[in-house]
Amino acid sequence: MGRLSFLVRAHRSFFWQLRDAYSAENLQRKQLVQHTDVLDGRVDGEVARSCDVVIVGAGFAGMYMLYLARNMGLTAVVIESASGVGGTWFWNRYPGARCDVESMQYSYSFSEELQQEWHWTERYASQPEILAYANYVAKKFDLLPDIKFNTRVTRAAFQEEESRWLVSTDQGTQYQAKWCVMATGCLSAAQTPKIPGLDTFDGRIYHTGNWPHEAVSLSGKKVGVLGTGSSGIQVIPELAAQAKHLYVFQRTPNFSIPARNKPMDAEYENSWKRSYSERREKARSMPAGILCDLGDKSALAVPAEERVQEYQRRWAAGGTGFTAAFADLLKNAESNRTAAEFVRERIREVVKDPSVAELLTPVDHPIGAKRICADTRYFETFNRENVTLVDLRTNPISEVTPEGVAAGSDFYELDCLVLATGFDAMTGALSKIDIVGRQGLTLKEKWRDGPNTFLGLMSAGFPNLFIVTGPGSPSVLTNVIVAIEDNVQWIARCIAHLIEVDGRYIEATQSAEEQWMEQVRKVAEGTLYTQAKSWYLGVNIPGKPAVFMPYVGGLPTYQQICDEVAVDGYRGFSIGTQSPCVERRQVNA
Ligand code: NAP
Repeated sequence: MGRLSFLVRAHRSFFWQLRDAYSAENLQRKQLVQHTDVLDGRVDGEVARSCDVVIVGAGFAGMYMLYLARNMGLTAVVIESASGVGGTWFWNRYPGARCDVESMQYSYSFSEELQQEWHWTERYASQPEILAYANYVAKKFDLLPDIKFNTRVTRAAFQEEESRWLVSTDQGTQYQAKWCVMATGCLSAAQTPKIPGLDTFDGRIYHTGNWPHEAVSLSGKKVGVLGTGSSGIQVIPELAAQAKHLYVFQRTPNFSIPARNKPMDAEYENSWKRSYSERREKARSMPAGILCDLGDKSALAVPAEERVQEYQRRWAAGGTGFTAAFADLLKNAESNRTAAEFVRERIREVVKDPSVAELLTPVDHPIGAKRICADTRYFETFNRENVTLVDLRTNPISEVTPEGVAAGSDFYELDCLVLATGFDAMTGALSKIDIVGRQGLTLKEKWRDGPNTFLGLMSAGFPNLFIVTGPGSPSVLTNVIVAIEDNVQWIARCIAHLIEVDGRYIEATQSAEEQWMEQVRKVAEGTLYTQAKSWYLGVNIPGKPAVFMPYVGGLPTYQQICDEVAVDGYRGFSIGTQSPCVERRQVNA
């Protein structure tokens, strides 16, 4: 173990030296970089643009992958369905959209210059500011020339003879590449529920995950909102402030902690900037990749008074760090109950009408087992006279008509309807693409009973196809930018290794994948996460197999495993120097 840790450290620092060397040459290389447009070749009679790496998605993962690929001297193209960079922050532009990880941490760490020069204006950055940051990064690192916007990848097929991926788009273009990186995001396939009559509604329907670019005026309007997850909890106070009347259709209440957002404190910002790299390193040693005050005791190990004081302190400080108060809040049901009850009491305190407070009080899941929300005056919103809470558990929606929503025996006349109904998480964006691996195997078919990956990074049967923050990785349980950076660096290192050893392909082995998925399942079962009907389990999507998708073992453990696998000659992967079908022919001969 000691020797392995040493090798992992050496491996990481070797990578950084290598990266820096490439970076130093980068300016020179830039003049030599051939943009993909000039590399046309013919595949099956079609013109296919050829490059080393095709990256799908220009969010934070895709942009960083492009940056590293370029620095390694590789040709790369990013294909993006939106008209701009930013991924989730491009699409989720609903009023009130804001990150629940502090802005000093929710940003790239790979460039000291970038993290020094960018200034965040608030404790938690709003969507427009994060999008501005993404655009700034794209410009600073000259990423835009290699991103094809307004282009959706429809198919990616592995060509066994050449060991190359052929990627097709809805624009009729094709790209052929040695490596394909799916940087498609974990929460990027917005989910519209199948409600009878929804398509007959006469007013406008907006989905929070696909909010229009043009200003939406709700003043004087009767607005309905469906969904009370993180998006709903953020958008509801904003809608209430604008609408003539807001009807909140709630199926399941959620736990939410006041964000206590505020303007950036100059001294706080400076303290981060003075020691950014040390703080980033410390953050990487924490389970969620977030530098926070992590309680190390059991909630039951301290006297009740002390426990409540700790919850009060965290409630007053604001933010999702509330569930880090004690070490066992997500492991021990009794401990969890103490935190849950504290929050329930706060809801009853804030909401004036006791019957409304009761409806808003979550009772069906442990606190934190569903992604905990951070809000700005969410519960207070239900004290407004222009807000009505409709409980769908007792009055389910029977239909939507051209005029509004029928729930139970009541009818709600509406001018517009906001769907804050979430996402087909972790697998949704991938399943929208027809991904075909070796011998015609499709990813959709392979994942019919739930996603299978090794480390969330690759799936057996799909050589040279990498997934950033895929199912089986900690991603959605972390500061996702940290998870993205670690995954992208691992992929870049892996590609550098393949080049070094003349590897034609790399592929996860079936057995490594099975063992990893078993580990993912086992770690989750040792926690309270599996006791909630959440999108982590996929149960928000009708027909989706109930499989707990993220790895809950924490980012440092996961990263250690990823690094050890690499240092150990990519244990659990097979690397071939010939294309898979040539190898198969040789075996069969
Ligand atoms: P979500 O957590 O999946 O919530 C969806 C909501 O829609 C739930 O309240 C759900 O009710 C309701 N819903 C879905 N289908 C319904 C139907 N047919 N009828 C009635 N209600 C229905 O989705 P989200 O709020 O978009 O959040 C997803 C994730 O995105 C978050 O957990 C978080 O990771 C991320 N996010 C983060 C931020 C942030 O950083 N602040 C903001 C927004 C989103 P049930 O619970 O009963 O299914």
